[in-house]
Amino acid sequence: MNRRNFVQGLALAVGAAPSVNYASAPAAEEVVQSGSPAQAWTPGTLDIHHISTGCGAAAFILCPDGTTMMVDTGAIIPQLDPSRSRYLIPAKPNASLRPGQWVARYVLRELQAAGRREIDYFVLTHFHADHMGEIAEHDLNSSPMSKYGKYQLGGLTDLAEEVPIRTIIDRNFPRYDYPQRLDSFMDRNYRAFLESFRQRGGTVERFEPGRADQILLQHDAARYNSFHIRNLASNGAVWTGSGTAVKEQFPSLAGLPQESFPDENKCSLALRLAYGAFRYYTGGDLDHDTYYGTRPWADIETAVAKACGPVDVAVANHHGYVDACGPAWVRALSAKLYIINAWDSAHPAMPGLHNMLSTQLYGTGRAVLSTAMKPENAIAIRRIAEMASTNGHIHIRVPAPGNTFSVNILDNTTETRSVIRSLGPYVCGEKPA
Ligand SMILES: [Zn+2]
Repeated sequence: MNRRNFVQGLALAVGAAPSVNYASAPAAEEVVQSGSPAQAWTPGTLDIHHISTGCGAAAFILCPDGTTMMVDTGAIIPQLDPSRSRYLIPAKPNASLRPGQWVARYVLRELQAAGRREIDYFVLTHFHADHMGEIAEHDLNSSPMSKYGKYQLGGLTDLAEEVPIRTIIDRNFPRYDYPQRLDSFMDRNYRAFLESFRQRGGTVERFEPGRADQILLQHDAARYNSFHIRNLASNGAVWTGSGTAVKEQFPSLAGLPQESFPDENKCSLALRLAYGAFRYYTGGDLDHDTYYGTRPWADIETAVAKACGPVDVAVANHHGYVDACGPAWVRALSAKLYIINAWDSAHPAMPGLHNMLSTQLYGTGRAVLSTAMKPENAIAIRRIAEMASTNGHIHIRVPAPGNTFSVNILDNTTETRSVIRSLGPYVCGEKPA
């Protein structure tokens, strides 16, 4: 423990106001330990692991009562498109397994340590390869067949091959027709997987924006009654903040030419997780691109962030790409920590990073971290040097009762996952004035 953390710990002990610690939260110097594994999860703790594969988004959440949850398991296949491969981040820890297999191994280890055997909820933000897994049609070396059914493996299906899942929640079950029929090879592979999954007893649901009772603690909800997950948005329907009511951000498709339909990213689902005073936002690849003002409704990320309100930790929309993490999104969330799931040389791009680092938007203390980084990007964008971390699994730990949280950056070069640095503790709560 260094001096800053000692002082922060002291402030916590005497119940200092959140804004005191918040203002002193810049994290770059908060190195407190290295080399040892993170302490195991215990009941009452909320753990959120942003798994670094270099190939897409994947988050594993272990709730205070042992309920388990995943948000996305992406997997880009570099060899599928040689023109793209030079921009990609090399697979972590290496390419000897597919990204979804590495994720499965990570999750199995966490489940075992916690005495759990399955994932209670898998939440898929949207139907893109870097969130559900890319599939190489007819290439059984890159995407082998499942042992369970007539579908190929990559990302989510690789995970499900190894780890039992009880319920899958996506944005468009069961019709898969918004904004139009989802009929790519990858979409069809996903539906073939779901068919097999359901035949084997799994449940599939459509994410219902506005609700706070679709994703529930499964083991001891009464004991941890400050924990809840609010469904913020999906397919352009955004929670109003009142009951479970939603407002349609997108116009009726009947009045739009097909080329103006909201794209897959804008249809992403978003949710806010709460435990005590802790708040966490994740919203897939929502963005704010209005096509130079011609489609004002298309700034979906701002509407969702305003519905969400201030949080402690936010996952950067669309990997911090040029069309996401706008100033209004940053201001509304006012997070202490931003996490970028990076897999491409444009993750993050300058505008989003600039906004997330800006002290003109709010307060002074925040840290921006990414799960990986293309070295060329750190040259192209000098402000990447201001990020608190650019490589490693990002493990958020919120001890009971949810008044504080801390961060461990875990080594992604082997499976030992030793702590290479720690940030915090931070005090949870509202943004400073
Ligand atoms: Zn994405």
